[in-house]
Amino acid sequence: TVFPSDLPHWIRQISEALSVCLCVQSNIVLLTQAFRKKFVIPDFMSFAAHIDKLYDKAKNMSGGQVADYIPQLAKFSPDLWAVSLCTVDGQRHTVGDTKVPFCLQSCVKPLKYAIAVHDHGTEYVHRFIGKEPSGLRFNKLFLDEDDKPHNPMVNAGAIVCTSLIKVSVHQVSVFQSERESGDRNFAIGYYLKEKKCFPEGTDMTSILDFYFQLCSIEVTCESASVMAATLANGGFCPITGERVLSPESVRNTLSLMHSCGMYDFSGQFAFHVGLPAKSGVAGGILLVVPNVMGIMCWSPPLDKLGNSVRGIQFCQDLVSLFNFHNYDNLRHFAKKLDPRREGGDQRVKSVINLLFAAYTGDVSALRRFALSAVDMEQRDYDSRTALHVAAAEGHVDVVRFLLEACKVNPIPKDRWGNTPLDEATHFGHHEVVTLLQEYHNKYSPAEKHSPSEKATADKDHAANNLDSMLET
Ligand code: GLU
Repeated sequence: TVFPSDLPHWIRQISEALSVCLCVQSNIVLLTQAFRKKFVIPDFMSFAAHIDKLYDKAKNMSGGQVADYIPQLAKFSPDLWAVSLCTVDGQRHTVGDTKVPFCLQSCVKPLKYAIAVHDHGTEYVHRFIGKEPSGLRFNKLFLDEDDKPHNPMVNAGAIVCTSLIKVSVHQVSVFQSERESGDRNFAIGYYLKEKKCFPEGTDMTSILDFYFQLCSIEVTCESASVMAATLANGGFCPITGERVLSPESVRNTLSLMHSCGMYDFSGQFAFHVGLPAKSGVAGGILLVVPNVMGIMCWSPPLDKLGNSVRGIQFCQDLVSLFNFHNYDNLRHFAKKLDPRREGGDQRVKSVINLLFAAYTGDVSALRRFALSAVDMEQRDYDSRTALHVAAAEGHVDVVRFLLEACKVNPIPKDRWGNTPLDEATHFGHHEVVTLLQEYHNKYSPAEKHSPSEKATADKDHAANNLDSMLET
């Protein structure tokens, strides 16, 4: 806050204190996590740098058509492209046209379904709407065998869902434009009315007006990422800490986004990306990484199935790089990055286990660690590695396993400058000395990597050479 310079000193001080309070209050979750050093993505800077690269890659894509069946949508430039994310503890990153307003369109469907379940519970809502992918285009006049819309992510289901919630919004221009070109939705509305799909006493035309209003709610990529993050966070807003949706409503919503959220690409999206998402005709994709973050991607050109071309590319690239796919194995699949918290405690435990296995000569424990992508070059507080310990204890089979199967650096120096060879020599373990000597001779400076490069290379190596590791 900038205060006028002629304010009396005491007023200025109180005002400053108040603005600090407001600042703290509106970022309470973020600050608490920061003080506890407990962010879900601890190295957020490097995570954000990866996101920027994925963004840049998708930016170069051309192709797709900006939707024009609602005239207001046709006005958007096909070059617009934005990605914003918000973690469950309120860390945020945005890149591209993230402040340009656009309308949620079908991205609002999961939100209103969540509100309906929050207000009325699962059983009541699903008296009117199914839970099954329809296998048909989102705006078909079609009901399931019980004469209910298939799910709340298609128009018929979303219109019935609208009749279950009560708030009202006003986004006049898109709303008007949408209503004027809404013949199909009127047709669906009358069909639903004929089939008695609405709760008793529903005024169908005013529900349709409300449906159009909800489609035309304007967001920016930044603001929508907080909505997605609220779904990622079990219904708690990650910025204010406020509970806005019940856990039941959020879990239902994520399940249906996962199976039905991406039009006729839903099955493929669930297969390749494995995350709940919902796209809309304005080019938005609301993507949720449960318990980690919410993401909003937005770019108006759509593919033939109605999903944002750049958005789909981004989502696919995201899960190729990070182990966010619902069925990625978090322990054994070393090829993808895991940006999630690896708490200090866990790291300490992992070093202790590793060094203890080296100390006791437990090759099978070490093999298990290596197969679970543990960094076999980790160091303790004296900068000693498993190789130092095994060499000092004379465990030649452990030394061989670390060198041959794990390809660890053979000449690490501890805090006193000692290498494993120094240790083996000092304690008179001749077989280990001979083995390490060979590696000293082979290891030319040109082969040296930076420690982090080396660790990644080793992990890849570990993953690629399961067979050799199992045999060694
Ligand atoms: N306003 C759109 C409709 O009901 C929503 C379509 C969409 O985003 O899928 O036709």
